Amino acid sequence: MAEPVIAVQTVSFAADHRGVCLRPVIFKFFAENGIKTIDRGTDSEDPVDYPIYAQRVARDIVEGASDFGVLVCGTGTGMAMAANRFRGIRAAIATNSEMAEFSRRHGHANVLCIGSRWQAPNETLAILHSFFFTPVENGRHARRVRLLDVEGFAVNDLAQNDPEIFAAICREGKRQEEHLELIASENFTSQAVLDAAGSVLTNKYAEGYPGKRYYGGCEFVDEVEQIARERAIQLFGAEHVNVQPHSGTQANMAVYGAVLNPGDKILTMALSEGGHLTHGHPKSLSGRLYTVFHYGTDPQTRRIDYVSMEKIAQRERPKLITVGASAHPRTIDFERVAKIAHGCGALVMADIAHIAGLIAAGLHPSPIPHCDFVTTTTHKTLRGPRGGIIFCRKEFARAIDASVFPGNQGGPLMHIVAAKAVCFFEALQPQFRRYQEQVIKNAKTLAESLISQGFSLVSGGTDNHLILVDLRGNLPSLDGHSAQRRLERANISLNRNTVPDETRSPFETSGLRIGTPALTSRAMGEMEMVQIGALIGELLTSPSPDDRVTSVRQRVLDLCRRFPLPYAHHER
Ligand SMILES: *Cc1c(COP(=O)(O)O)cnc(C)c1O
Repeated sequence: MAEPVIAVQTVSFAADHRGVCLRPVIFKFFAENGIKTIDRGTDSEDPVDYPIYAQRVARDIVEGASDFGVLVCGTGTGMAMAANRFRGIRAAIATNSEMAEFSRRHGHANVLCIGSRWQAPNETLAILHSFFFTPVENGRHARRVRLLDVEGFAVNDLAQNDPEIFAAICREGKRQEEHLELIASENFTSQAVLDAAGSVLTNKYAEGYPGKRYYGGCEFVDEVEQIARERAIQLFGAEHVNVQPHSGTQANMAVYGAVLNPGDKILTMALSEGGHLTHGHPKSLSGRLYTVFHYGTDPQTRRIDYVSMEKIAQRERPKLITVGASAHPRTIDFERVAKIAHGCGALVMADIAHIAGLIAAGLHPSPIPHCDFVTTTTHKTLRGPRGGIIFCRKEFARAIDASVFPGNQGGPLMHIVAAKAVCFFEALQPQFRRYQEQVIKNAKTLAESLISQGFSLVSGGTDNHLILVDLRGNLPSLDGHSAQRRLERANISLNRNTVPDETRSPFETSGLRIGTPALTSRAMGEMEMVQIGALIGELLTSPSPDDRVTSVRQRVLDLCRRFPLPYAHHER
């Protein structure tokens, strides 16, 4: 017999109790044509639910375990409906061999659905033969098939008009799917957030604020921004919010711009102690515009050193104190910082970029009742689109709004404002608290796993979503950069970080920062954290790590397959 025209490598097969009668003839066809088969059941006439069987086959294909599928039920329709819910699946019903042929030729079908009610065994053979021996036609058919495969008009156009960028986006989607994301500042948004962020609102100019815009046609984006504000206030309980900052950096700069003049004194935590660039780093505009003093962490406990903060504040009389961090694993006492600031006539800004989700869920004390300004990103633990927001007391509302626009920004990104509103809506649901609880449990479990393997953690553990490993503890010759690259080869993503009392350059570093928000969004729990801790330990402590990379990577891929992303990435 001739080779199948299509490059058949593996076919997944499933039938329900009505389709099981065609198993023998179908498997005979596979065997005779040298087609490798994954058998997904069922093998008896006991009633079963067809969607589950269709889903098994669809999953095999989407995940790359097989190239094609064959599904049989009474009519073929139930199987086709279930399979076609998966992006990348093109399941076609064929009741005769011409239908099978054209489903391949024009439709590029990758799943053949057969109804046992209509098909005798010899007709089934003819259908299988047509399906597996018909090549696909490209040209206009390929274009139409592409239009089937991807969601939304914008993406369809992208696939068609800019295949280069579309392909890069697809590759990034696959990278996200196949890596263990432990970068503490990253997360996976819902499909709903992605939909809002990719919406037509990107076309709208809306300089100004709801009800007071400098452009016409703003009635609907006004609704969007008003809803975003109301939800943010409901979530965090503040007096005023500005949802327009493009990023956490823009939010911080807008607060500075609202209350400081160039040269004014600010007191902040240094980058090397866990602070952020926008907290007065010399390379940031914040460091160039203002006179910066730093407080740090206590050398014993590695908690924020409130005593020295107060001393410096009393001595220097800064106009503003900032508190908040990018790499601090412990609870922050915002109330105490506010007391210190107000005690010496300073204003206080809490930057909760990393822990906003924990605060929204009530799992970390909120700075809102104590601090004059609270800024955050929306894309870290809060799990929304890339962006920033500012909360403040009523008395500062006008100054903050004016500092965002026209002070620091032009037109707001209304599609992102909409996505922020969706994010706040999601964060107001009861399951968001459960998610954040799991984020913390996962971080603690991962921390324990690392400690039990001899790693030393800055501050000895974690209260929140992140862990800071000081490699100098058990692996003094391994620097952060090398460790990061080694883990990356096994599809484990995290980032190197300076640690307090850093002895290496900021490029090399002695630390690793590890966070659990993203993996928790993939529904991973404590059991997986123990496994991941062991994988990290295996790669970092092995005397011959190169020999371990392949096997660790395999186990990473298995985990990723078992815990799909909360959104579907585009299949090419
Ligand atoms: C991430 C972060 C920011 C800045 O966020 P961008 O959106 O990247 O500008 C500001 N402050 C802290 C503490 C952060 O962790």
